[in-house]
Amino acid sequence: QVFNASWSYEAATESKDHIQLKEQYELFINGEFIPPVDGNYFETINPADNQVISKIAEASDEDVDKAVVAAEKAFKKWSEMPGKERGKYIFRIARLIQERAREFSVIESLDGGKPIRESRDIDIPLAANHFFYYAGWADKLSYAFPNRKVKPLGVAGQIIPWNFPLLMAAWKIAPALATGNTVVLKPAETTPLTALKLAEIIQESGLPKGVVNIVTGAGITGAAIVEHPRIQKIAFTGSTAVGKYIQKAIAGTDKKLTLELGGKGANIIFEDAAIDQAVEGIINAIFFNQGHVCCAGSRLFVQESVAKLVIDKLKDRMNSLILGDPLDKNTDIGAINSKKQLETIEGYIKIGLDEGGEIYQPACIIPEIGNWCPPTLFLNVSQSHRIVQEEIFGPVLAIQTFRTVDEVIEKANNTPFGLSAGVWTEKGSKIFYMTQKLRAGVVWANTFNKFDATSPFGGYKESGFGREGGLHGLKPYLKFE
Ligand code: NAD
Repeated sequence: QVFNASWSYEAATESKDHIQLKEQYELFINGEFIPPVDGNYFETINPADNQVISKIAEASDEDVDKAVVAAEKAFKKWSEMPGKERGKYIFRIARLIQERAREFSVIESLDGGKPIRESRDIDIPLAANHFFYYAGWADKLSYAFPNRKVKPLGVAGQIIPWNFPLLMAAWKIAPALATGNTVVLKPAETTPLTALKLAEIIQESGLPKGVVNIVTGAGITGAAIVEHPRIQKIAFTGSTAVGKYIQKAIAGTDKKLTLELGGKGANIIFEDAAIDQAVEGIINAIFFNQGHVCCAGSRLFVQESVAKLVIDKLKDRMNSLILGDPLDKNTDIGAINSKKQLETIEGYIKIGLDEGGEIYQPACIIPEIGNWCPPTLFLNVSQSHRIVQEEIFGPVLAIQTFRTVDEVIEKANNTPFGLSAGVWTEKGSKIFYMTQKLRAGVVWANTFNKFDATSPFGGYKESGFGREGGLHGLKPYLKFE
């Protein structure tokens, strides 16, 4: 058992005995699980012990083509089905996710390394909510866009990352189905299991065959989706580097595109903020899901007059964070998703030190096997430092101070990204001013990392374009006539 050095507790580990996982998973094409044409499989690994969980089919160009053919065939029937009927299927998927919430939570934590408390309380309920929410829109598109004739686009190719595997699948699939599109979705190669469980649920829901197809594989499979000539829309969530490649790859085609990319969120604490609440907010902003969060508050700006107070309290709070077994309900910081990601994070910590940053990490006991990184903060950093400018995607916080509102706005906006920001203050007027000035798709006030199916989410600048969630999330899947 692993616990933080500063205090001990009794483990409360979620059992995985009842979880039914197969040794091998196939591709979900045209409503059936079928082996890949080339017979290739890859392994999905539990990042907490680096043991293989299951073998997963690797889709080739030919498999992707099969999935597109199935989705094309299903499109006519699905798009012409009355919205009310489509809504019923989507609603059924939401209910089935709810019924299997415990199983989904355990699998999400096993495959991805996130604390079970997070998968159980956040990822899985939000995924179900997303389907419930868009089920409601399926028969109300004419109210959503009054006096406009709207039509679905056709086959949507959807590619998602590993940080919120089921939730990202829900963000993609639910609005596509509500608007009458059919789908070929590829989960990330390190976390394919909950998407494949979702495929089982989709089969059980009786959704017409071919409406949703799930093809597993790495970047090559993703590229086959992007380049497939008969896919009408690409919805991508992932790194800015791959987003740029996709934009180039489809240039000159009439494919529609939405990109949800990286971030470097500024979390801004003014001197009049409720300090204890803000400290909790800082912890949640950067250490939620080990910092594997596109909208993480990875840059902290504290007003000079309260900087010492906030940083002392923050360090104290970091000392009480529990790092360890993702399946233990006490765990705050789970496993880093992959060896590769751990190397990236450790590389950035080294860069931070080489750049002259002052590091603080609580005295954690790190398990001997698995991929782990203690919660980390850096002081003594400046705007030009790489750990301030680049996305680390791990539990690493860069702290700076500021004196004036204008100074912090300029610093907060000074990265290539524009996805999220947080503002902590007692003054409503300051909140409204900041939301106008911060170039970020989402600005939270006196909270951070709050998500809701009804709210649009998306970025500016190199964080991408297009919005997912809410009424806005329907638009990218429709043509307006
Ligand atoms: P990634 O870009 O490496 O991979 C994302 C997905 O793209 C995976 O499924 C991967 O297999 C696929 N892919 C890789 N190369 C491809 C190619 N050439 N063509 C098509 N598909 C390809 O990103 P990641 O490491 O899985 O995820 C982390 C990144 O995702 C971070 O930058 C994070 O900020 C971003 N993210 C953004 C949001 C958002 O809403 N803005 C949400 C979650 C994650």
